Parts: sequence; C-alpha cells; structure tokens
Amino acid sequence: MNQVYSLPITVEHGGPRQTITPVILRDDRHMVLVDCGYPGFVPLLEEAAGLQGLSLQHLTHVFVTHHDMDHIGALAELQRAYSQAETVTYELEALYVAGKRKSLRLIQAEASLEGMAEEARPQAEGFIAFLNQIEPALVHRTVADGTLLPWCRGTEVVHTPGHMPGHTSLFVRESGTMIAGDAVVIEADGRLGIANPQYTMDMEAALSSVERMLTYPIRQLICYHGGLFQGDARAALIALLQEYGLTYSE
Ligand SMILES: [Zn+2]
Repeated sequence: MNQVYSLPITVEHGGPRQTITPVILRDDRHMVLVDCGYPGFVPLLEEAAGLQGLSLQHLTHVFVTHHDMDHIGALAELQRAYSQAETVTYELEALYVAGKRKSLRLIQAEASLEGMAEEARPQAEGFIAFLNQIEPALVHRTVADGTLLPWCRGTEVVHTPGHMPGHTSLFVRESGTMIAGDAVVIEADGRLGIANPQYTMDMEAALSSVERMLTYPIRQLICYHGGLFQGDARAALIALLQEYGLTYSE
C-alpha cells in the first residue's frame, strides 16, 4: 500500500488567495508529511489530511524541503502536537530549521530595506517582523543528496538548490513521483516556472536543478505551489529550460 497524497490548502495569507500543497507519503510502516505550511496551520493540515481519510496521529516523519515561512512555519507547533513524528531534512537546511543559522529569507528581507522608498517600508518591516516570529524547530535526522529513504519502498533525496542553497526534492521511485517543493512552480497559465525570481537565491543553480530533475524517470510532478502538474511533466521541464535558452537532450 504505497500512496502519495496531495493536501491542497487554500488561504489568504497577507495577500491574494494562494494554494499550497503539502504531500503525505504513506506505506504500511510510514506516514510522512512533506512540508507543513505557515504558522498556525496545524488545524488546516489536520483537516486536509482528514479529507483524504488520513489522521496525523499516524504520522511517523515530517520531511522539510527548505526553510521558508510557508514550508516550516507550522513545524514547531506540529512537533508539539505530534511528538512521535521525526523531522528529517537535508543537512544544510537543518541549520536554518533548528535556528542555528539566521534565516536567509530574513537576511534577504533586511537587505531589501536599504535604499527602499519610505512608503514601501511599512510592508517590508511587517514582513521582517513576521519572519522573526517563526519558531526554530527540532531536526531529528539529516540526510544527504542521494540518500535513499525507505518511505514508499524507496524515496530518494534530490538536492535541488536555487530557490535556497539547501533546497531538496524527493523522488518516489515506485510511482515515479517527483515532489519538487519550490524547485519549480506551476504558473497561473498551467506552465512550469522558476519560483518568483525575487525569491530565488541563485537562478543558475535553479536551472541546473531542473536539469538534474530530468535525470529521474519522472511520471508525475507535484509542486508545492500549484499541486499535481497536469500534462507531460518531463516535456514541461524541458520547455522551461528552453525559455531560459537552455537545451536538454534525452
Ligand atoms: Zn514556498
């Protein structure tokens, strides 16, 4: 019984409506939540899991793709509510999740204040205050690029830097499912895109990560922003590279 469930959650979080898509991997021994939403999202995660007939009481692990407010915002509170679940993350991201290194998003936001027009400051300062209240969380296990986890009889850790230096995706071998995190997003028109360049730390690395994903036999692609990609995911990844002037040959 190996299943990959998308848990779309639609919210208005200090801006326009948006849908985020945490994922649950389920087999007969594991139930893994991949990313967990903004602060205060535990009830929304419980509800979204319930709609799929799942209870977070059975959670064994939480996997974090990267340290960002919409991916780990609820992690500390989730750990308090479901203390049986181990948190697993890529070694570099673990430092940020555990609060041992200052959040890159916070550093980026603070740097943006420099030379900012006076009228734009209150919004930026509000964002900084929001980032500052994100709680550090426990990391029980760190993994490296290529680590094969036993989830769903074989789930591979795929380091996909760009959006963040320690960003990782997961590849579930049996179903050929790439859980991309924010390595790519589904745009409003249904095409794949690189997450808003404003939030992407290293564009060149982000494009290399798209090439890297293509080395996996992807049959379905789930983006945290956009959910399950409709259509030929491999062709869409290749088209995305082409938009940036890169060619990819199979
Ligand atoms: Zn995100």
